[in-house]
Amino acid sequence: MDFNIITNSEICIANTQQYLTGLVYYSHFPMIILSLFFGFFVFLKNKSSLASKCLLGITFFFSLWLVFDFILWKSSNSSLLMFSWAILGVFEALFFILGLYFIYTFIDKKDVSNSIKFIFLLLSLPVLFLTPTTFNLSNFDIINCVPVESGISLDYVISLKLIILLWIFILLIVKYRKPPVDISRLQIFLLGLGIMLFLSSYFVLSYVSDYLYNAGYEWGYQVEQGGILAMGIFLGFLSYLIVKFKAFDIKLIGAQALVLTQFALISSMFFFATVLISRVLIGVTLFGTTIAGWYLIRSVKAEIKRKEELEKISHTLMVANERLKELDAAKSEFISIASHQLRTPLTAIKGYLSLLLEGSYGPVSPQVLDILNKLYGVNNRLVHLVEDLLNVSRIEAGRIQYSFAPTQIEPILVELVDMFLSPAQEKNLTIDIHLSKHPLPLITMDPNKIKEVVSNLIDNAVKYTKVGGVTVTLQNTPEVARIIISDTGIGIHESDKKNLFQKFLRSKETTKMVVSGAGLGLYVGKSFIEAHGGKIWAESDGPDRGSRFIIELPIKNTHIQIGTSDEPTSVEKE
Ligand code: ADP
Repeated sequence: MDFNIITNSEICIANTQQYLTGLVYYSHFPMIILSLFFGFFVFLKNKSSLASKCLLGITFFFSLWLVFDFILWKSSNSSLLMFSWAILGVFEALFFILGLYFIYTFIDKKDVSNSIKFIFLLLSLPVLFLTPTTFNLSNFDIINCVPVESGISLDYVISLKLIILLWIFILLIVKYRKPPVDISRLQIFLLGLGIMLFLSSYFVLSYVSDYLYNAGYEWGYQVEQGGILAMGIFLGFLSYLIVKFKAFDIKLIGAQALVLTQFALISSMFFFATVLISRVLIGVTLFGTTIAGWYLIRSVKAEIKRKEELEKISHTLMVANERLKELDAAKSEFISIASHQLRTPLTAIKGYLSLLLEGSYGPVSPQVLDILNKLYGVNNRLVHLVEDLLNVSRIEAGRIQYSFAPTQIEPILVELVDMFLSPAQEKNLTIDIHLSKHPLPLITMDPNKIKEVVSNLIDNAVKYTKVGGVTVTLQNTPEVARIIISDTGIGIHESDKKNLFQKFLRSKETTKMVVSGAGLGLYVGKSFIEAHGGKIWAESDGPDRGSRFIIELPIKNTHIQIGTSDEPTSVEKE
């Protein structure tokens, strides 16, 4: 086909140009810039992704299509006109096929099979072959100023577009019903909507436009320009989705696209501003917008950089935290193993010492008895320490066993006070107990665990008191039983109060006193009491003004499940 059919089509052009002179610039230039911007932005953000490459291809052919479409409106060179008119179908076919390819690659995250590629090739070949022939354009109609289309190529391109749209539609439905694991239905829906709207908006509106024009409405052409604008909008929407789903930074693309659109729109106004003052004003606006846009992009970039740095730091912290957790677990495991190994010999020593003290191996001289007593005390402390260490590792591994049963609390307290009578007397301390007038109802508890906690509190009270004494008080409200262990000892500093219940923590006063202890009893106690749905805390009026340790246990312990029989129930604590 010879594109150079007429040598001068200026009269025609003057004819067509009476419509929408400005709108053509307005619809084409910003869209070319935006389209390429979107394509390159998405591609540069994710160069390896095939979907990004497809989008770049779509935006590239769409921009070329816009360039040649613009030539149709503005050129008066007939051969260029004929060539532009002829080639448009090729670009349309290409960005439609790429649209389909894009949907495949975005959803499946992999390339399509060779057979599908072969079908794509087969579908595009007729367009490529028909374009330069008279099956595409057969002549130029000098009266209406349009090339004469033979119909074959045009019909093929239209059919191709319809086939592709239908193919995309069916593909989307299939993928929507059974989405791949790493993509959500919403993503498939939005993406499908974006590509369908992008591909069909111009297609539909150009028919509406032709229809209106043929029906005698001259402004019908403008509808077609609206189609181009709509394509730009949907392309933006698509890029937004890709960037959003790929978790690129939306703010940056948003700011850049906004600035670029403004720039393109304002610059295109130059083409239809005829008065000098208007041009000057547009120039000033353009300058202002550029400066403002530059600052906007810079500040968004700075914010993103800060965010990225924060994310990096938080990731490093997360890794470090995970490592610490692993180390902590390894440490607990070690303590657990070591303590188990220590417990057996210590228990044996305790047993033999008791037998020796009871005289089971014959009479013992007072001097040796004194030494044996001291050994017994020291060994006992070790046994407690090992027991505490084992409890800590069990708590941390969530392996503490509780045997809950309805229990009368008073006898436990009386027994404990009796037990501490002689250690208190050895230090010249008094030890008293105050119970409520009426016995408390049975409380669901693990009596051994409660005994362990209260025993440690009384032991501490005796340990940390030089003069005065220790009092154990039992009070109650309808809801709670309150056990108060108060002493007249070294007291607690305000700043130490809340830390005492952490493991291995001891107050400064204690370390000065150099009394034995590892700082584990309160930590273990807190865990035991909380497993009962209770509370434990410390009160003190300050250093050297005594301390009060208070335990509150709910009387009706609804969160603990026990069996209906009298059998104690074991509960594994998480
Ligand atoms: P330990 O007594 O073995 O050090 P605990 O966990 O039982 O460990 O107690 C933690 C810390 O709480 C003690 O080291 C001590 O500083 C403080 N403390 C506990 N009971 C009292 C008390 N009755 N008076 C003053 N301080 C106390």
